[in-house]
Amino acid sequence: MEIGDFRLEQLSEGIFEVSAAGSIRKIRDHHAKETEKEAFPRVGLDPVLVDTGSTRVLLDAGLGMGLDRREPDPETSNIVTNLDIFGYRPEDIDAVILSHLHYDHAAGLSFTGKAGEVTATLPNARIYVQKAEWEAALNSLGTHPGVSGMGYEPDDLYRLVADGRFVILEEERREIVRGITVIRTGGHTPGHQVVRIRRNGQTAYYCGDLIPNENYLNRFYTGKIDTDPVKAKKARMLLLQQCWRDQATLLLYHSVYRKAGKIVRDKNRGFALKKG
Ligand SMILES: [Zn+2]
Repeated sequence: MEIGDFRLEQLSEGIFEVSAAGSIRKIRDHHAKETEKEAFPRVGLDPVLVDTGSTRVLLDAGLGMGLDRREPDPETSNIVTNLDIFGYRPEDIDAVILSHLHYDHAAGLSFTGKAGEVTATLPNARIYVQKAEWEAALNSLGTHPGVSGMGYEPDDLYRLVADGRFVILEEERREIVRGITVIRTGGHTPGHQVVRIRRNGQTAYYCGDLIPNENYLNRFYTGKIDTDPVKAKKARMLLLQQCWRDQATLLLYHSVYRKAGKIVRDKNRGFALKKG
């Protein structure tokens, strides 16, 4: 996909299922009956690579399955195997923008080396995260010890923070690279941010978990996935209206079917994604 002369790639890690406890895991039974399928909703996982020609920016870092073993898994892929498909090496990535610090967006940043040491997956990348998000991840240690699932697992991030790789953002908006701007929304998590990519009159939004899939385009439900459901609902509506005004392409992280598309209004005045 192209936005102006920027090249964008969605790096699909595969299709996963959400367990009853809320963790994302490999699909256990591919032949499950419909009722069981409903019990374990399916999700995609698609970080985005933006190549501006001079700078390469990754939007979220994925689950990182298989990074520790350093061998490809036939069922899933990770940031390293996906970059390779498009002809990039881990060293080529200059920046990572994290929508938030939940492990399904941040775990791919590091892996455990042979001697048990935490190692950066992308050795040259600076990592951009909101201050409120980093603080929420730290606070989660005291309030929810040992919680796994779609929550925070900041242990592996300390090493990267200590190494000075993190850039902690305090502004609500900041242009990280010319044409690539983060916008703090909160709602899903205290420091959730989305990314606007604008080049040569074309615009795309990477929506993180504020609009994780197409179902969120019109059903303004206050989902249990959000830490502040009212704020998330408001931020989601404002973002959709802005996307519509900008005639933007939406990039969806957790979609199983439609992963990207230009936002349009359908006959009933609802939002939809246009094919192509
Ligand atoms: Zn997520």
